[in-house]
Amino acid sequence: MAASDAVIELKGVERHYVQGSDKLTILSGVDFSLRRGEIVALVAPSGTGKSTLLHTAGLLERPDAGDVILAGRACGRLSDDQRTSIRRNDVGFVYQFHHLLPEFSALENLMMPQLIRGLPREEAAKRAAQLLDYMQIGKRGHHRPAELSGGEQQRVAIARAVANAPLVLLADEPTGNLDPVTASYVFEALEALVRQSGLAALIATHNHELAARMDRRVTLADGKVVPL
Ligand code: ADP
Ligand code: MG
Repeated sequence: MAASDAVIELKGVERHYVQGSDKLTILSGVDFSLRRGEIVALVAPSGTGKSTLLHTAGLLERPDAGDVILAGRACGRLSDDQRTSIRRNDVGFVYQFHHLLPEFSALENLMMPQLIRGLPREEAAKRAAQLLDYMQIGKRGHHRPAELSGGEQQRVAIARAVANAPLVLLADEPTGNLDPVTASYVFEALEALVRQSGLAALIATHNHELAARMDRRVTLADGKVVPL
C-alpha cells in the first residue's frame, strides 16, 4: 500500500510496561496502516496487546518508539494538547462498555463531543438526530442510557464516536457484551456507517463471524501485527 493511501499509519511502534525489574514488551515494532473506507478486524487472544494497540493508534497512549501518523501528521512528538485536539477531531473510540454519560439522553450524549468542539447547539442537535436515525434508534433519542437495551446503548456509543466525523474509528470489542444476534445487527449498523462516511475502522473482536464480514483480518504475534 502506498503510504499516501493510509489514513492512519503505525511505523515501528513499540510499547513496553515496566513491572518491578521486568520490562514487559507488548508491541515490538508494529507496522500497520488503514486505508480510507476500510474495515479491519483485529483478532487475537486476551492479553496479547489489542487494547494497547488501539490506545496507541488512537493517541491515548504514546509509543515508546516508532510513530503514529494520522492524516499525514506524525503525532509521537506533539504536545499533549496537540494530541488531544487531533484525537477529538480525527479519532472515534468505542469500548466494550458504552461509557455513555448516564444522566444525559442519547441525543445529548451525541451532542456533547460536538459542543466541546465548538459547534452551535442547533447544528449538533441536527447531526445527533441524523446519526441516531442512521443507527436505527431515532425513536430512542430522549431516553437515558439506563433505559436502553445493551444493543441500543452500543449503537449510541458508535454514533457518538463518529459525531465529529473522525477519520478513524477504533473499537475495542464493541459487541463483546452482546448476544450473537444483537452483535450481528449492531455490526451491520456500524458497517453501514463506515461505508457511508468513508472512514477507516479497526475493530478488535473475538467474534469470528463478524471478523469474516470485515475487509481483512489481522492478529498480534510476538508484538507485531500480521495478516490472519
Ligand atoms: P488485550 O487487549 O489483547 O487483552 P492489553 O493490551 O490490554 O491486551 O494488555 C496486553 C498486556 O499488557 C497484558 O499482559 C497486560 O497485563 C499488560 N498491561 C496492559 N496495561 C498495563 C499497564 N498499565 N501496566 C502493566 N502491564 C499492562
Ligand atoms: Mg483488551
